[in-house]
Amino acid sequence: MFIETRGNDGKNPQKVQFSYAVLNPSASFGGLYSPETLPEFDKDFFARMSTKSYKELALEILKLFDVDIEESILKEALNLYDEFDDKNTPAPLVKVKSDLFVNELYHGPTRAFKDMALQPFGYILSHLAKKQQKKYLILAATSGDTGPATLDTFENKENIKVVCLYPDGGTSDVQRLQMVTAEGENLKVIGIHGNFDDAQSALKSLLASDSFKESLKKQDINLSAANSVNFGRIIFQIIYHVSSYIELLKQNELKIGEKFYITVPSGNFGNALGAYYAKKMGLPVEKILIASNINNILTELLTTGVYDISKKELLQSTSPAMDILISSNVERVLFDKFGYKRCKKLMDELSLKKSYALNKGELEALREDFDAVYSDDEFALDTIALFAKEGYVLDPHTATCIKAYKNIKPKDIPCVICSTAEWTKFAPTMWQALKNEKLSDKEALENFSKTLNLHIPKCIDLLFTKEIKHPDVVEKSEIEKSITDFLKG
Ligand SMILES: *Cc1c(COP(=O)(O)O)cnc(C)c1O
Repeated sequence: MFIETRGNDGKNPQKVQFSYAVLNPSASFGGLYSPETLPEFDKDFFARMSTKSYKELALEILKLFDVDIEESILKEALNLYDEFDDKNTPAPLVKVKSDLFVNELYHGPTRAFKDMALQPFGYILSHLAKKQQKKYLILAATSGDTGPATLDTFENKENIKVVCLYPDGGTSDVQRLQMVTAEGENLKVIGIHGNFDDAQSALKSLLASDSFKESLKKQDINLSAANSVNFGRIIFQIIYHVSSYIELLKQNELKIGEKFYITVPSGNFGNALGAYYAKKMGLPVEKILIASNINNILTELLTTGVYDISKKELLQSTSPAMDILISSNVERVLFDKFGYKRCKKLMDELSLKKSYALNKGELEALREDFDAVYSDDEFALDTIALFAKEGYVLDPHTATCIKAYKNIKPKDIPCVICSTAEWTKFAPTMWQALKNEKLSDKEALENFSKTLNLHIPKCIDLLFTKEIKHPDVVEKSEIEKSITDFLKG
């Protein structure tokens, strides 16, 4: 069962099942749904799983959570991993140094790790909408990777419409093209003048707008969300952390029970939360190392106990998916560790004073599971160049993990870093790292792939010749009308 991170307002149900949390992700007082308790791996779990495929492991974990979805539907959802580069190994674990491994999570249709969760999640949400014969509008504000992955998973799905808001100029060209060339009749993509925070706040004010809610109601449309506030995404983000451990066992790098580090490039903290839940369920994780970029709010929280955005402004970096100040899923960790009363108090302080402070004991409790470090663009570019020379290509987000690997990994045990995007989504940055030269996405893709003899997947290559279906770039004030027109049409 799932309960609410800020307590119950007496209107929402006290406890809900998985499908309810997926369809209605916003809980009382602006909180989130979180598992009431976590299942635990039994003592033979890892031995049993070490002969299983990714999909079999995934099904086992979903069953441990006792989700209220038929097994046949879960299996169909997991079959979407068959479309990844290697159908048997959707998330390959690659050894880069004696103690450094990369969990490559970007081998899906949109070349970012969002597919790992959004592919099966989208299938399940679509199934629920169809079964309940209810119409859903899925809203997404994106800094570049959630958008394409959301559009892909819901394309032409019955009873589902998707509206995706992106900051014009705030994404890479490849990311923008992935969205504006989207073909499904049920999809709408809108560029807005502003940055990602503007896109997200536009979305939030829309959700609070009476006229908007009224017009949805008239058309009998329900609202849901595809970002990682939806637990339906988080559950699939537990699985690949477990699979990286199983891979370490299979590759004879560790024996059952021996510990390892997980490092994640963090933004909204969904990836990190998946690792935290996996650790609580019994995955032998020494610590979860959080890598941030210059928007280093998570590093500040996990090293000082203070979350203070009152004097911060969102900065643009070469890792745009991590350019975020309000990191939604931290709330689920606070709730899990300190309970709903304390969690609500901290979250209320954040919205009122734009800051909160943990006490010493609370900080210590967080640091039992997490440590964090941040790096700047210069570090990312140098790291990309260094690793490329040694024969491994890291995207700018994944490169931030190397700072954690170098600075905050005291024990000589394996470190798994999560690679969250393929280099092809950020080719101009990659080329700049290599040659210190600024090129367009298309030129940079061609040059980088030639120089390092790398393959460009068809889905990326074809983007440059596809028809633009969604040319609209609007002011914030025009968003509501754009959406209403789309829903009518
Ligand atoms: C979304 C994203 C992240 C951040 O992941 P969170 O789960 O939000 O912390 C990091 N890198 C890339 C490439 C992403 O798309």
